[in-house]
Amino acid sequence: MIAMTSPAPHRRTAVSARAQRLPGGKLAELFALARERGAIDLAVGVPGAPRTPEPLVEEAVRALRAGANQYDLPQGRVEVRNRIAESFATPADPDTELTITVGATEALCVALFSLVDPGDEVIVLDPYYENFLGAVELAGAQPRFVRLLEPEAACGPGWRIDQEALTAAFGPATRAILLNTPSNPTGQSLSTEDFELIAALCERWDVIVISDEVYANLVFDDQQHLSAADVPALRDRSVVIGSLSKSHAVSGWRLGFLRARPGLTSVFRRVHEITTNGASAPLQLAAGFTDLFDASVLTAAKELAAARNTMADLLSRMGLSFRVPQGGCFILADIRSVTDEPCEAYVRRVLEESSVLLAPGTPFFADKQRGSNYVRVAFNRSPQVLTAARRQLTH
Ligand code: PMP
Repeated sequence: MIAMTSPAPHRRTAVSARAQRLPGGKLAELFALARERGAIDLAVGVPGAPRTPEPLVEEAVRALRAGANQYDLPQGRVEVRNRIAESFATPADPDTELTITVGATEALCVALFSLVDPGDEVIVLDPYYENFLGAVELAGAQPRFVRLLEPEAACGPGWRIDQEALTAAFGPATRAILLNTPSNPTGQSLSTEDFELIAALCERWDVIVISDEVYANLVFDDQQHLSAADVPALRDRSVVIGSLSKSHAVSGWRLGFLRARPGLTSVFRRVHEITTNGASAPLQLAAGFTDLFDASVLTAAKELAAARNTMADLLSRMGLSFRVPQGGCFILADIRSVTDEPCEAYVRRVLEESSVLLAPGTPFFADKQRGSNYVRVAFNRSPQVLTAARRQLTH
C-alpha cells in the first residue's frame, strides 16, 4: 500500500509566494473601460509613432520565405549583434559582450537572475519603471527605494538624485542598482555627475549597475545619450539593457539585448538558454540585414521630438505642470495645479468627460500618496491621434 502524506500544513496556496507578491493587474479595469468607450489611449507605451521602418518589414518577410524558421544560436544571430554594436559610442565586442534577448523585459530578468540572490537588496530610484519591481521580486530580492527629489519649478533642475539618500541606501546587503536613462516615467537622463556618484558608491560597496537604456535612441534636442557603458569607472561593473521596441516601433517583435563584460555575458547566456533559449530567428535576421541606425531608418527621435512638443503644449493648456522630457516617450505631469482628487479619480473623470485614457501615477512610485499627485502621458502617437486627443481634452 502506498502511504499518502498530506501537504505541509503551512502550504495554503497553489502559487509561489513570489508570484503572489507580484504587483500589477490594478489598471485592468481602467483599460477595459477605455476600450469599451473607444477612448484614445495615452496610457500605455505601445508605439503609434514612429512608423515601423518599411525595410525591416521587407527583410522579415524575406527571412521567413528564405526558411529561417527554426531554433538558432541562443545568444543571437551574429548579424544583429554586429548591427547593435555599431550603435554604441563606446565599442563592445559583439562576440563576447552582447546577447540578444526577448525584449528588454527578458534582459532584465536574465540580469537579475544572474546577479542577485534571494535576500539581496537592489536599489531602485523612485519613481521607477513599474516592471522593475516585479522582476526584483521574481529574483527573490528586496527593492531598496531611493526617492528622487521632485522638480521645484518647471524650468529648474528636474527630478534629482538626493546624494545623501543614495549614499545611505548602499550597504552590505546591496547587490545591484537598477537605473533607467532616459527614464520611464520622468523622461530624464542621468548626468555625468550622477554616474560618477553612482560609480563611487558601487566601487565602495562592490555593487553592479543594471542600466535599462531602452530609450537610448530616443533622446531629444541634439543631446547625446550617456550610457553606463560610457563611464570609465563603471566599465567592469555595468550591465546595459537595450531594445528595438520603441526606437524602431517593433514592440511586438520582442527584440532586446544585454551588454556586459565577457565574464558576465557567458553567465547571462546560460541563464538566457533557460528563460527563452533565444529570440525570434527570422526577426533577428531582418534586423541584422537592415541599416538600423541610419538616419533614414532611425527616425524616432525626430518624429517624437515633435510629438513631445505637441503633448507638452496640450498638457500646459490643461494646466498641468511637468518637466519637458529629455528622452523616452512619456511625460510625468503633476495634477495638483488642476485638482485635489487623487490621480485615479482624475484619470477616471478625464476618461468619462473627454474619452482619453491617461495612466495614474501610483504604479510608478513606492509612496502611493506621492504617486497620487501624478499622471503619466505617452506621446509616441501619430499626429492624427495627438490632434484628436487635443480636441477632446480641450473641448
Ligand atoms: N524598460 C523600460 C524602461 C520600458 O519602458 C519598457 C517598455 N515599456 C521596457 C523596458 C520593455 O521593453 P521591451 O519591449 O523591449 O521588453
